[in-house]
Amino acid sequence: MDGNLLSRNLNFAKIIPRMELFIQKLVEKGFRKQHSPTNTNIMPISSKDRGWELIVDNILFSFTMRDCSFLHLNPKIIAQPRTTTQLQIIVKNAHELQIPLTFASGKTGLSGGFANPFMLVDLEYLSTLAKPYTFDEKNAMILADQSVLISELIRVVQIRMNNKYIFPCQPSSAFKLPVRLGGLISTNASGITSGKLGPIENWVERMLVILPTGEIRELKRNTEIGNHEPAKQSQSQSQFNLFDQIIGGMGLYGVVLNAQIQLAPIPNPKEMKYYALFGSDFSFIFDALQQIQNKQIFPLNCEFVSATTSIPGLFQNLSPSETVRWIILIKDTHVVTDEFLNTVKNYGKCGIQSLSSSEYQLYLEERTGLAIQTKSTDPEQEFLRFPGFEDLLMAPEKLKAVFDEINYQFKQFRFPPLIVAYGHLNFRRGQGSLLHIRIPVNVSKLANDPLKIYHQIARIIAKMNFLLEQKYQIRPKAEHSTGMFTFWHARQNLPYFLSLLQEGKMVYSPHLFLFLQLCSQMGINRNDPFPNAKAEELLVKLTFMYLANKDKFSSNYLLGK
Ligand SMILES: Cc1cc2nc3c(=O)[nH]c(=O)nc-3n(C[C@H](O)[C@H](O)[C@H](O)COP(=O)(O)OP(=O)(O)OC[C@H]3O[C@@H](n4cnc5c(N)ncnc54)[C@H](O)[C@@H]3O)c2cc1C
Repeated sequence: MDGNLLSRNLNFAKIIPRMELFIQKLVEKGFRKQHSPTNTNIMPISSKDRGWELIVDNILFSFTMRDCSFLHLNPKIIAQPRTTTQLQIIVKNAHELQIPLTFASGKTGLSGGFANPFMLVDLEYLSTLAKPYTFDEKNAMILADQSVLISELIRVVQIRMNNKYIFPCQPSSAFKLPVRLGGLISTNASGITSGKLGPIENWVERMLVILPTGEIRELKRNTEIGNHEPAKQSQSQSQFNLFDQIIGGMGLYGVVLNAQIQLAPIPNPKEMKYYALFGSDFSFIFDALQQIQNKQIFPLNCEFVSATTSIPGLFQNLSPSETVRWIILIKDTHVVTDEFLNTVKNYGKCGIQSLSSSEYQLYLEERTGLAIQTKSTDPEQEFLRFPGFEDLLMAPEKLKAVFDEINYQFKQFRFPPLIVAYGHLNFRRGQGSLLHIRIPVNVSKLANDPLKIYHQIARIIAKMNFLLEQKYQIRPKAEHSTGMFTFWHARQNLPYFLSLLQEGKMVYSPHLFLFLQLCSQMGINRNDPFPNAKAEELLVKLTFMYLANKDKFSSNYLLGK
């Protein structure tokens, strides 16, 4: 399949004049259209001009605006506002002219959430508070700007609150990559503490946001901290609750400017116990984990790694004489860890090792490091790891069947089998086990024939998303937010999203625009029930477009220039 042909068939005719008018309107409000990178006559920017640049048709710049998903579309216009006023002007005018708009923050997302061939707002330099963060020690809260790094919040909270409180949401990515508060909230992220503390939605007390119309609004939570029911993105107007929509809303319902976060109390570090459980026998462990979930035993950390052969790396030290094929890391007070260990022991025999906090930290880092490594059956081959159905939430007892299904499908589509699986147990206070999976893509094959390999990747992503939904009732991206897949997942409810758009409750999304364009190209009427027989084919085309177009300057390319 040729990416060019596909995109040229889409109808962008109406949007081009609107984009030109949009630039003109912003220039009238004080923005400056920036020189092309080939023009050497670039004046230094004075501090008062910062944030007023509109970077238009800049190939180099737009190539840098990518998340970690390989799903990219290079934006025609990029803005990097520094003030709320600048951002407000952009959002308001984009709304009035129906310009597809997205927002980027730390750029560590795994779903192409801000991929956009039209207008991208990079929030990295936006400052909305006099200080990046302020503590309210009495109430154990922190007020922070959207651009503050989560790694910094994790560090400063622990120091300032004397090890009595932690920043409640600690995604693995934040330990290695620049995850920011706005991105964290907009993806409703969770991480290594999610078994006990749940995702960030449990801890947001207040937010200042810009709505799709440009209006600024303060939103306060109306449920008890820490006991928030899992927020569901609404499927009807009567369920629409702006606070819940914004959290995990991927910028569709508004931009997070700053937020007040409740900090999570933790037991005295001296009372913490750390364990590694491990074994080679899988026969009982999934039942034991199911029982732990049923009994609601939720340690502060509860991570797993398993392998079809033997777990490589540091984990081998746990049992030098025996093959280790699964390992569980837990951390909490002895009350919780004892209950966990006793439940597992009731089901079968396994190794149990008590660890010091520094030993535990090493193992935990080895586990989180798996998120950016590739383990394949052939150590001579180099692989890139593509997301697409990379976090699968299910009952522990389904883990093995789903893992086997994935390897079966990988074989059908000529990808090598996975040998290591890892993830969170008791994900988000007992919702299930979260299995992390990436597609291993051979680097030299990708370099030799990218379009062929992108098509192969698009096909396995579409196959697995459809199969998991239809056969296992599992929705991928339970942790990482749905990004460019959002409207495919919501394909039976398109009229609802169109009504939100019409009422100014939703930003005009490029993902919706491209999805609808493909629907009409395939003869699918947006107002009829979506024909499931065409769902997989549409997702192949959609994913391929995001994968393949990144190799071109996709705004010009999509716009047919
Ligand atoms: C190796 C690796 C490990 C990961 N581990 C985890 C993990 O353990 N847990 C987890 O939950 N995620 C994980 N992720 C995914 C990612 O780190 C999270 O989704 C993170 O919260 C994204 O934040 P960001 O600042 O990078 O946002 P971005 O990637 O910049 O944006 C993500 C989405 O949020 C929107 N957005 C960003 N800022 C705003 C704002 N201020 N207002 C409105 N919308 C906004 C964007 O439009 C986009 O849709 C991992 C990713 C990688 C690469």
